[in-house]
Amino acid sequence: MPGFEIFGDEERRQVQDVLDTGVLFRYGFDAVRKDHWKARTFEEEFAARLGATHCHLCSSGSTALSVALAACGIGYGDEVVVPPFTFVATVEAVLLAGAVPVFAEIDDTLCLDPQAVARVLTPRTRAVIPVHMCGSMARIDELAELCGRHGLVLIEDACQAVGGTFQGRALGTFGRMGCFSFDSVKTITCGEGGAVVTDEADLYRLVHQYADHGHDHAHADRGAEDHPILGMNCRVSELNAAVGLAQLRKLDGILASQRKAKAALKDALSACPAVQWRRVPDPAGDSATFLSFLLPDEARARRAAADLAAAGVDGCFFWYDNNWHYLRRWDHFKHLRSPARLPQTGLATFAGLQDVQVPVSDNIVGRTISMQIKLSWSEADVASRGERMAAVLGAI
Ligand SMILES: *Cc1c(COP(=O)(O)O)cnc(C)c1O
Repeated sequence: MPGFEIFGDEERRQVQDVLDTGVLFRYGFDAVRKDHWKARTFEEEFAARLGATHCHLCSSGSTALSVALAACGIGYGDEVVVPPFTFVATVEAVLLAGAVPVFAEIDDTLCLDPQAVARVLTPRTRAVIPVHMCGSMARIDELAELCGRHGLVLIEDACQAVGGTFQGRALGTFGRMGCFSFDSVKTITCGEGGAVVTDEADLYRLVHQYADHGHDHAHADRGAEDHPILGMNCRVSELNAAVGLAQLRKLDGILASQRKAKAALKDALSACPAVQWRRVPDPAGDSATFLSFLLPDEARARRAAADLAAAGVDGCFFWYDNNWHYLRRWDHFKHLRSPARLPQTGLATFAGLQDVQVPVSDNIVGRTISMQIKLSWSEADVASRGERMAAVLGAI
């Protein structure tokens, strides 16, 4: 992570194809596009790689989440279980759908704890959105089983875990829908982009219609198409898709590089007793975009973060203080500050957002540090980083 570190001729050639035809639109223009279908090709290759039946490329991971919720019919009055540790987009999508986010605790996987999810279910719960945070997986088999047992829609936010697997199966393919992000800092990037995958033909139809103003995509002449449903514009341009296509073809190399660096760093820190690794339910499926570890208490985690920065070990996140990734800093949600009134009228339900109690998650996130694994590091960079980290963390 991130894919922008390895832009090269592959991306340039893909973009040049698009510029050569002048067709930036993903639909139509058959006569002049010289058979370049970047979005469509990305979708075919991504679905095949994941072992999913259908993929639809969107303008972002955020719109992918919105499209998935819409396709699953989740909206006004529904409760959706989400983790307090995620990128804000997961919760925004639920709120903007008119649904109510209900927070359940995470565990030392840094993802939703299935037992904690079971405790927050109500008759209004319709869906669960686990987030595979920082490159690794939630206990997705248990979450899928729980959703099946209670008749809940499982939507995976795999925006940070492209290429990750659990027991050989791609993350994003356990739920009815899986959402991905290819924004400018993700593992593979389109500049801006995202995707939804599903095995269900009916959901896929709703997805591509909703993401394109309800167009049914059933006619060669776009002007003649019907609009069976309300939709909006969540389309991606061919330029973005072209960059993403070149990046997708590099994914195996990206994963191999990240895994190698991560293994070397873990090795270098093996003699630091204060370091507890984040639990990874299936280590073989870790996409290894981050090295995440927990320290015994918040004070030591804060000290470690400061000492690592002072030792020149950059890219270490202390998530507890980060205002994008942890609920404690999302005041605009707690007070529902929005330029317009949101569709929910269930203020009684919303009062809960102002005082969400997630003490287990506070404790875990307050002890966690994640370091981004870079693709540009040489072996010598990794070795020297490992030495500096061991010196800091061995003394904590
Ligand atoms: C990046 C991200 C998103 C949103 O993706 P964008 O493409 O930036 O809109 C959603 N969820 C998670 C967990 C993310 O990391």
